[in-house]
Amino acid sequence: MPVEKMQFQAETKRLLELVVNSIYTNKEIFLRELISNASDAIDKLRIESLTNSDLAEESEPEIFVLPDEKTKTITISDNGIGMTRDEVIANIGTIAKSGTKDFLDKLRESTSAAAQELIGQFGVGFYSAFIVSEKVELITRKAGTDSGVKWTSDGTGEYELEDCDKDTPGTIIVLHLKPEFIGDGEYNFTDAYEIEQLVKKYSDFVRYPIKMNFEVKGNENDEPTIEIRIVNSMKPLWTRNKSEITREEYDEFFKQQLHEWEAPREIFHVKAEGTVEYTALLCIPKHAALNLYYSDYEAGLQLYSRHVFIMEKCKDFLPDWLRFVKGLVDSPDLPLNISRELLQQSVEVKVIGKALEKNLLKQLGKMLRDDRDKYEDFWREFGKSFKIGVYNSMFDKKAQDSLKDLLLFQTSRDGKFSTLAEYVERMPESQKQIYTAAGKDVSSIERLPQMELLRERGLEVLYLTDPVDEFTVDVLRTYAEKTFQSITRENFELDDAESQKIKAEVNEIAKSHEDLLKDVRDAIGGEVKEVRLTSRLKSGAVCLVTGEGGPSLSQEKTFAAMNNPMFKATQILELNPNHAIFGKLENLHALGKDAPEFKSLCTTLYSLALLIEGVMPTDPVDLADKVTDLLTNSL
Ligand code: ADP
Repeated sequence: MPVEKMQFQAETKRLLELVVNSIYTNKEIFLRELISNASDAIDKLRIESLTNSDLAEESEPEIFVLPDEKTKTITISDNGIGMTRDEVIANIGTIAKSGTKDFLDKLRESTSAAAQELIGQFGVGFYSAFIVSEKVELITRKAGTDSGVKWTSDGTGEYELEDCDKDTPGTIIVLHLKPEFIGDGEYNFTDAYEIEQLVKKYSDFVRYPIKMNFEVKGNENDEPTIEIRIVNSMKPLWTRNKSEITREEYDEFFKQQLHEWEAPREIFHVKAEGTVEYTALLCIPKHAALNLYYSDYEAGLQLYSRHVFIMEKCKDFLPDWLRFVKGLVDSPDLPLNISRELLQQSVEVKVIGKALEKNLLKQLGKMLRDDRDKYEDFWREFGKSFKIGVYNSMFDKKAQDSLKDLLLFQTSRDGKFSTLAEYVERMPESQKQIYTAAGKDVSSIERLPQMELLRERGLEVLYLTDPVDEFTVDVLRTYAEKTFQSITRENFELDDAESQKIKAEVNEIAKSHEDLLKDVRDAIGGEVKEVRLTSRLKSGAVCLVTGEGGPSLSQEKTFAAMNNPMFKATQILELNPNHAIFGKLENLHALGKDAPEFKSLCTTLYSLALLIEGVMPTDPVDLADKVTDLLTNSL
């Protein structure tokens, strides 16, 4: 069989360059990564063999780690599921993960300290082999097939593939170590005792035996003999008493068990012995997975029954808005060979899931009350999940109720995060609604002309800066019996005496300007439903507001980005009758409604109102020309 040369997928190649140039300060972790891949492969074979008797395990599961001084290699082998040729190409030659490209772009822009932090979130798994190796060989045979395939690469862009013989299913990985890892410097990865320590440190809880060879010297004249020893304890961490487990042990456990690159931010270790008996060991990671909000993100908890692994991602325990929670559930009340379909209907799974959900919410609620900084930090990373959760619970009042008190929004008070309860608590008695404003960030909302009046009246506005926010409050509709009211919607009005007085005055002016308003609307064309006078502006000349019911302008943008351009906002242009430009408009109107000067001012005002809302006018060049003319004549 010829050797075939192949190229890594472009993104994989870039990631490899980063790994090889060793952004990782911790060189040892390659071992943990390869051992946990080996352990996963054994899990997969076990699960497959439950339904496919041809795959019945030929031998007891085991992982071998063999450092070798003579060949300057370290070999990690397993008798797990193995890979076919196509799987090697798909799994080892490509990184099929949403967000990889964005991630690499971000990485390129960041400083090296930030880069370390970032790459920590990625987890490069198998590629970590190249941190310590100048060449990596992977020989694998898929269980149920009878020939193997050998993959070789020096990690620079190409790899070689060739068919080969392999006696048993499973995978062997041979790392040809770089000189700095064979004893000349800080590390000697060919030393069995050094490697034994690393296995104990990083992989002690792996549930299959990790075996190593040790030379045992006999009497002086005897040749040394080789003794095989199991170096990991294999005792599942979660079966131990909480009080006896250190934070370091938990951290290491999550890293090795869940392929996490950082210690988790929060840990929950729960044992229950009620109607259903179970132990759960859950964590909230420090950072959100890069693909957390992409469709290829796989949520779910590992499932064990009597410490035997059953399933990698059981989705039936936690609701989608807790998708970022990782960990495992071990319950003796679940049968070993349960199928996914049966799991969904399992009463035990439901009971456990409900209890875990309740527990997590309780802990988070407690964090919000007792350690605000910590909660806000959590919120910055994962808050979006809860907001999406509310949106997706449109018909599930109970879910909304359990989430609404955990939501945070920045507000106009001081830009800091506020809960809805805190906002309502601060509302003056005369204020009947919760005022909201949407925009791409705090500063663009603060500069909205509609904000001026509220600021002057000392009224607080909830900032909706994430595209999902508006949808979230739309679903909630009310909080503590106060409705959410956007300050850029048609119906918004302030009901204090002063505001009512201004409104009455504006209405008077409007009555005598009905023709003008109609003609402005005609001049703009069909884009706006109505042109009217406003009492919500102070110094601003114009603003655009949207009709009740339909999407807002920013929701329209979100829909368009999701390829739903048919959801359009109803636009209403509002003019400030107290602004000088209004007088100008009246004067030009006197020239006749078809006068080019009048029409031009109308379309310009409309373009400006769009720009203020962050929407591109239909004819930006026209606007640019007008502004240029204006400047030329006035300077
Ligand atoms: P991850 O383990 O996070 O998926 P890796 O880069 O470590 O990422 O591995 C990519 C894929 O290659 C794995 O998901 C698995 O399908 C396959 N793989 C890696 N190591 C082995 C192994 N020892 N046996 C079988 N398959 C493996």
